[in-house]
Amino acid sequence: MPELPEVEALAGYLRQRAVGRRVDRLEIAAISALKTYEPAPTAVAGRAVVDASRHGKFLDVLFEGDLHLVVHLARAGWLHYREAFPATTPLRPGKGPIAVRVRLDDGSGFDLTEAGTQKKLAAYLVTDLAAVPGVAKLGPDALAADLPTFAERLRSRRGQVKGVLTDQSVLSGVGNAYSDEILHSAKLSPFAITDRLTDAQMATLHAATRQVLGDAVERSLGQRAAELKGEKRSGLKVHARTGLPCLVCGDTVREVSFADSSLQYCPTCQTGGKPLADRRLSRLVR
Ligand SMILES: [Zn+2]
Repeated sequence: MPELPEVEALAGYLRQRAVGRRVDRLEIAAISALKTYEPAPTAVAGRAVVDASRHGKFLDVLFEGDLHLVVHLARAGWLHYREAFPATTPLRPGKGPIAVRVRLDDGSGFDLTEAGTQKKLAAYLVTDLAAVPGVAKLGPDALAADLPTFAERLRSRRGQVKGVLTDQSVLSGVGNAYSDEILHSAKLSPFAITDRLTDAQMATLHAATRQVLGDAVERSLGQRAAELKGEKRSGLKVHARTGLPCLVCGDTVREVSFADSSLQYCPTCQTGGKPLADRRLSRLVR
């Protein structure tokens, strides 16, 4: 799932490549992906792209006249920039991975795509960002928050730090992959309880958040949009590395599974050498 660093890089790429260009046509291929009715997609035609930015994990493409195309890429969504499109015929709705296509006046443009059968990508055409429900309730940006803000937000929600760190209304931008990386870097158990973290642990967690996200943004920027996914994987130290050696201490990276996700951690670095209970695995053992 694209998180803060990837979406930041996509916005950066669009700022470089698309800003200043005028829209020929915005096409919606996956009707269910567009969550708004007014203004209609035809209202985008003829407008110049004036900016591209990020709110948490939401991508925001701004057209002249204060019209925003806001996109949440969900788990399997991505943006592909095309120097040219193979045909000028409009997309046929309901076929293939393309949800939204934006054609620009130089023949280039971009597709918002979603792999797999679970269609969760959400696009909004709005003149007021507050009209996007997910954006309206976002907490402060995880990369921009200073230590007092960061600590206040995390302590405002009592719970396991893994869950609180990925709660977009607490802090925005961090998802499953980077929370694993941040907690590994901070040497904290994913199940540590937020309001029991000491000031020193909180400061370490804040520094790790900035370091991990900042490094990932750095790696991602300047990369072509199509390559960002591979780049993200190569920079990870524990996430999606179950069974492989921890790159810091050499212990074996372990996993805890949930119904539709899993987390990875290093026992030596994060939990005093003790493996966390994995209910799915314990069931198998029993
Ligand atoms: Zn380790």
